[in-house]
Amino acid sequence: MTKKYVYFFGGGKADGNESMKNLLGGKGANLAEMAGHKNLRLPVPPGFTISTDVCTYYYKIKKTYPKGLKEEVVKAVKKIEALMERKFGDPNNPLLVSVRSGARRSMPGMMETVLNVGLTGKTIPGLIKQSGGNGRFVYDAYRRLIMMYSDVVMEKAAGIELKDDESGIRKQLEKIMAQMKKEKNYKTDTDLTAEDLEKLCSLFKAKIKEVLKKDFPDEHNEQLWGGIGAVFSSWNGKRAVSYRRIEGISDEWGTAVTVQTMVFGNMGNDSATGVAFTRNPGNGENNFYGEYLINAQGEDVVAGIRTPAPINEYSKSEHNKDLLTLDETMPVIYKELFNYQKRLEKHYRDMQDIEFTIEKGRLFMLQCRIGKRNGPAAVRMAIDMLKEKLIKKEEAVMRVNPGQLDELLHPIIDPKAELTLKPLAKGLPAGPGGACGQIIFSAAETVEWAKQGKKVILVREETNPEDVEGMRAAQAILTARGGMTSHAALVARGWGKCCIVGCSGLHIDALKKELIADGKVLKEGDWITLNGTKGNVYEGKLTMMDATEENKMLDEFLKICRSLKKLGVRTNADTPEDARKARTFQAEGIGLFRTEHMFYGKGSEEPLFRLRKMIVSKNESERKNALNELFPYVKKDIKGTLEAMDGLPVVIRLLDPPLHEFVPRDAEKLELLAKDLNITLEELSQRAEALHESNPMMGHRGVRLGITYPEVSAMQIRAIFEAAAELIKEGKNPYPEIMVPVVCDVKELNDQLVIVNEIYQEALAKYELKKIKHMFGTMIEIPRASLVADKIAQSAEFFSFGTNDMTQMGFGFSRDDIGSFLPEYIKKGILPEDPFQTIDQEGIGELIKIGIQRGRKTRRNLEVGICGEHGGEPRSVEFCHRVAMDYVSCSPFRIPIAILAAAQAVLRDKK
Ligand code: PEP
Ligand code: MG
Repeated sequence: MTKKYVYFFGGGKADGNESMKNLLGGKGANLAEMAGHKNLRLPVPPGFTISTDVCTYYYKIKKTYPKGLKEEVVKAVKKIEALMERKFGDPNNPLLVSVRSGARRSMPGMMETVLNVGLTGKTIPGLIKQSGGNGRFVYDAYRRLIMMYSDVVMEKAAGIELKDDESGIRKQLEKIMAQMKKEKNYKTDTDLTAEDLEKLCSLFKAKIKEVLKKDFPDEHNEQLWGGIGAVFSSWNGKRAVSYRRIEGISDEWGTAVTVQTMVFGNMGNDSATGVAFTRNPGNGENNFYGEYLINAQGEDVVAGIRTPAPINEYSKSEHNKDLLTLDETMPVIYKELFNYQKRLEKHYRDMQDIEFTIEKGRLFMLQCRIGKRNGPAAVRMAIDMLKEKLIKKEEAVMRVNPGQLDELLHPIIDPKAELTLKPLAKGLPAGPGGACGQIIFSAAETVEWAKQGKKVILVREETNPEDVEGMRAAQAILTARGGMTSHAALVARGWGKCCIVGCSGLHIDALKKELIADGKVLKEGDWITLNGTKGNVYEGKLTMMDATEENKMLDEFLKICRSLKKLGVRTNADTPEDARKARTFQAEGIGLFRTEHMFYGKGSEEPLFRLRKMIVSKNESERKNALNELFPYVKKDIKGTLEAMDGLPVVIRLLDPPLHEFVPRDAEKLELLAKDLNITLEELSQRAEALHESNPMMGHRGVRLGITYPEVSAMQIRAIFEAAAELIKEGKNPYPEIMVPVVCDVKELNDQLVIVNEIYQEALAKYELKKIKHMFGTMIEIPRASLVADKIAQSAEFFSFGTNDMTQMGFGFSRDDIGSFLPEYIKKGILPEDPFQTIDQEGIGELIKIGIQRGRKTRRNLEVGICGEHGGEPRSVEFCHRVAMDYVSCSPFRIPIAILAAAQAVLRDKK
């Protein structure tokens, strides 16, 4: 049997179904399901989908089609004709079709579409007849076809390179149309009459011939195949490729092409088109939510050229509250639509994003797909659907993407600061959280400024898919036009980025690089602040704060996640305050307390002075003096942290600073230090000079410091035991785990263990205690340590993988210098992503596996965790689960993300 390439749907039947997304694309599979599934059989305009296999073939065999495809397409067109009782290319009763893209995963606006295919000199009169003599409608459809087709098929798909944005055929045709409107003194497109539009179509065709040196095709089949080819070509268009790279979508998947009967929302006031969601994608509330436009085509809603009206009372906003709802204008149809959306959600058991068209009082369902939602909405829907028994708890956990939780923990504008200010402008709240940044008016410049480390807000009249990289680089996006379903809103929501759309109070002049709002002129580089949750725009830079105040939904959700996960989730915390904050996030202990952090930041002056003294000490007695002075500070910090984490394990790492970082540079500090040490400035400079290392990251740091200066380790170990002993005496339950860093051999550990044992005994005697619960272990961060982990585990009771250094030393990439080459590595595909962010499972992951395996061979109950930055990154957390670590440790704000990722890892494992 020959391979099947074309899948028909319509008339209550379909060849495909929802499970065939890989072959039919998300759109094709869902159309088949909507049209053909026995629970649905919704009124979908009939059509067919050409499979992604054809796309693969197309690119493999020099942009040609497989044998048999043409015949299959002809057959499928015949089937549509029979159902619709119209004929493709027929002069009396013509059938028109749309040609659309559809990849496995939705790529909103990134590929091409051609509408109104089949409209030619021959079929125009027939369509006029069909539409009841509405010449205006027909010539409007024709001019849209000409604009779209010349742009998408004759220019883009033909690979014509443009000098600049302005020279594209579409822009040139738009200019002709604008010119005509100006001459006739028209305000809007709808003022153009049938005669105007007919004339416009001739002018368009002449311009196309002049610019592209080709005639606009006047033959329906030529148009159809031109459209199909253009959709396949757009899979490798610039913006689709950029989007795939950002979203991690494989180049190999390809797109399907769906050819579907055109239905028209612009046939008069009994026609309309709209987009709706079965629940509110902005906050997750279980209410039908959407927008529609009377007498318009679908592209008008998405492009945001006219302000869409709310479909019902619930969908009203500040912006559209005066417009009539669909419920009011077409109540019977609204009920029908309401009923379909209920059935769709029940069938898919998830929130659906629906496109519909009403043609002369008849409702058609054009598309449905799983709706994108922001983080807060995702959590709310998961919890609600669980309560409604629509889904099970395992599904609820899989419904939220760990990265989305970040949005619930997003910075917001300090409400106090906001209270005192009047917004410059108001728009639709399309992406949550707050953001401040400098105004930029083009996507390319946004990317440039962001590269220089600047915080930028991309401000546009409306965004189009070409802006995708700028949107990514921006802190936030602000547009003057567009609704909640416009391109900017969709993309921002998908990314969880702060975004305001439809801010009609803004007057943007991108050429002059300025905007006017509320009578004020703001220029490029001026600061503004956005509240994406409310849709408010403020002048200047407002203070931001974190939004981690009590969030019941999140707590409820995390409770479910905790009941499923196996990995422990600890935190990296260096101060008692961080430890307390982490406890409110339900950290199960501290996985890394970096002692040296007490020498940075707030309150660090005094201990830092003493540390510096210790560093520049020349002999043991000088050093011991300095250490004695340092001791109370270290003990106090450790005690506070152990107390904040009472009852839970706290991994305290012995000092691991590259020493040169702490040598004072400023003259005043140097002088004070020299005075305190009773030496001259010259001598101090010499001593500091002697500390210089060529490669400090691999120099005198970590355990090497404890081996050369045992008194440095002794002081810290004493601080740990005494702090714990005092807490025990106070009735508390401290549990320190002493961790030795930068170890490459068990003998290093043995050397330090002698000190630990000695001081432990001293502390027991001093405090008259029988036992202080503790563990002794090490970081595994040097590749050699993993290889000799069996020996290391003879002395270490626990391992904590320091994947920052493990990545640095495993790759030989200096972790502080990757900026100059890593982006190029990723761009060229040499590395798939930054290994300092997500564990390189192929290489570094192998080292980790070896370390765990060999360590546990020696010590079966060896405790294993991770404390590198990867401990809060979802894919790395899943890896840690798979290699049977006991816990991950991450910064306090990433704890919820790690908890969710750990629960999802269990569920994925089960599959
Ligand atoms: C590590 O190397 O992964 C680690 C946690 O230690 P640091 O980042 O302090 O070197
Ligand atoms: Mg390290």
